[in-house]
Amino acid sequence: MPHLSIVAPVYNEPLSTVTALTSRVALAVADITDDYEIILVDDGSKRETWEAIRSASSNEPRVLGLRFARNFGQHVAISAGIDKAEGDWVIVMDSDLQDRPEVIPELYAKALEGFDVVFVRRQLRPESLLYRGGARFFYKVLNLLSGQEYNRLYGNFSIISRKVVIAFRSLPESSRFYGGMLSWLGFPETSILAQHGTRQAGSTNYNIKRRVFWALKLIIGFSTRLLYLSISLGFLLALLSLVMGSAILFEKVMYPEKPLPGWPSVFTAVLFIGGITNIALGIIGIYIGRIFEETKRRPLYVISELTR
Ligand code: UDP
Ligand code: MG
Repeated sequence: MPHLSIVAPVYNEPLSTVTALTSRVALAVADITDDYEIILVDDGSKRETWEAIRSASSNEPRVLGLRFARNFGQHVAISAGIDKAEGDWVIVMDSDLQDRPEVIPELYAKALEGFDVVFVRRQLRPESLLYRGGARFFYKVLNLLSGQEYNRLYGNFSIISRKVVIAFRSLPESSRFYGGMLSWLGFPETSILAQHGTRQAGSTNYNIKRRVFWALKLIIGFSTRLLYLSISLGFLLALLSLVMGSAILFEKVMYPEKPLPGWPSVFTAVLFIGGITNIALGIIGIYIGRIFEETKRRPLYVISELTR
């Protein structure tokens, strides 16, 4: 059994990135141990990426390649790598070299101080102000709705102990969020600060649409507070209409000669209630959809090829 397993999801990264990744990881862990494995999970990339992983693995037997039959998503790929990892410690990192392999020794040293989970807090992020502002807002909402404390500076770059690996594998949900699942597990956790790199090659795999979907998925997946929110909203509106109704009644009693306000007020009220009901139904619908997804009990991923 290796001492260290390095797990990286790979999606449409070019040969140069895969080569740089494996050699820089090898250099970085050389001082820690000879006994390590690098698990590259090809998340349904185009041909070139899988060829790159295959050749990396034939040059260096410590590289194990896993190929998904299609794109299942970064966090599913991470889960597949963790399923395969045999190390006493597992390091999870991006494959595009934004997570710099040179940080691994420090991450490992911190873990040895007695932490089962150590994350890297990303410093000097190269992303735009708009991106970082959006991320900050999203984590605020997520923390508020889920009642948890996710650190927006955390990516997936982290080290976890064998104990955590085994616990992580026992989580069955199909909607995966590596960091959120770890914080749910609740093992002693800390973090170190390290500079975040720029992409080795190519560009990000996430456009705005994909990021927004991912954000919604997390909010729905990690909290049921939205449901309570819609119930509270319903109560609030019921109260409001009670007040308005009483006001109208009061007016009718006090000034019986004045005509009742006509259809515009009624129509407004109907629209208002209709809208709110739809929002509540929509929220419930999303959760039911989610229950449906989970009850299908499909496997998390499908592997089409292995390098060995
Ligand atoms: N990735 C993946 N599957 C996907 C999208 C991304 O495995 O569907 C991998 C990608 O190869 C990279 C990491 O996840 O190693 C982070 O992706 P990316 O760099 O595109 O995201 P960003 O750093 O811009 O958030
Ligand atoms: Mg990246």
